[in-house]
Amino acid sequence: MIGGAGALALEEVRRGGKLALAAALARLEQRPDAPESLALLDAAHGAARAHVIGVTGPPGVGKSTLLGTLIGRWRGQARSVGAVAVDPSSRRSGGALLGDRLRLATDPDDTGVFVRSMAARDRLGGLAEQTAAAVVLMRAIYDLVVVETVGVGQSEAEVADTADTIVLCLQPGSGDSLQFMKAGIAEIPDIAVVTKADMTEAAQRAAADFTAALDLAAAAAAGWRVPVLTVSAARGLNLDRLSGAIGDHWGWLAGDGRLAARRHQQAERWLKEAVRDRFGREGLRRVGELSLVAEQTPFRRLAEISAALSA
Ligand code: GDP
Repeated sequence: MIGGAGALALEEVRRGGKLALAAALARLEQRPDAPESLALLDAAHGAARAHVIGVTGPPGVGKSTLLGTLIGRWRGQARSVGAVAVDPSSRRSGGALLGDRLRLATDPDDTGVFVRSMAARDRLGGLAEQTAAAVVLMRAIYDLVVVETVGVGQSEAEVADTADTIVLCLQPGSGDSLQFMKAGIAEIPDIAVVTKADMTEAAQRAAADFTAALDLAAAAAAGWRVPVLTVSAARGLNLDRLSGAIGDHWGWLAGDGRLAARRHQQAERWLKEAVRDRFGREGLRRVGELSLVAEQTPFRRLAEISAALSA
């Protein structure tokens, strides 16, 4: 039920600024199935306004630098931005990379930009689960939401799957190209970016390699041709083309109900992963059919399933 309490809580978060949002996100993480959490997420789900942009790629490729630059441009256009910096690898490295993630530098006094860092933790609810809740809340508040993830593996793909537009960053000469093709990552991006194009002549060749790797996926992507751009955040090269491509993809999603269909599919995939995370394959088997009706949030459905399986 989309109750008045949720709408009121959402309004409070909007009015309360960054502190209120940080507190609300902490409550969502700590008590994902609490009635207040579900009511807030229901309200936020119904009030979605932002374009959600996922930026992914290996550490050191230049994601934070690029995002810092893009966020500066968006702020210059008076568009508000919420960013979630996610580090799925910190489960293995004991959180050592968290400091690393905080490099996404923004002006703390600017109320129009908010950055949240998230690292994998051993607790109820996986990282992808928490990221999705944060994205749903933030996309009801900001004009743009950015989800930055490290790496190009499976868990990164899950996190990236909360985005409407996925930008994959690759660095020429780093061997990413090979890894990228092996991992079948070519199916993931909506936009591919070769970074640090100022630094090396290999950028154009890397772009050609990626384009070749992408062709099949592009053909399958129902009419969206994945652009492969060479960009330098440091020199400001091709940033207009990148923000243009991001805008084009948003325009493309608006047609033929593509955005709604994509978000619905993502919600169903997210629900399946979340049930598997909490209850394993056996739990998934017991639940059976996991399709969602259009207006139901996956968060509420997950709480219902959890209650039923734990009973
Ligand atoms: P992330 O780990 O993917 O977020 O990468 P960072 O944004 O932290 O960048 C990693 C390194 O690459 C830093 O030393 C940056 O200064 C450098 N870098 C980022 N963008 C560029 C660029 O466009 N050109 C050059 N030459 N170096 C860059």
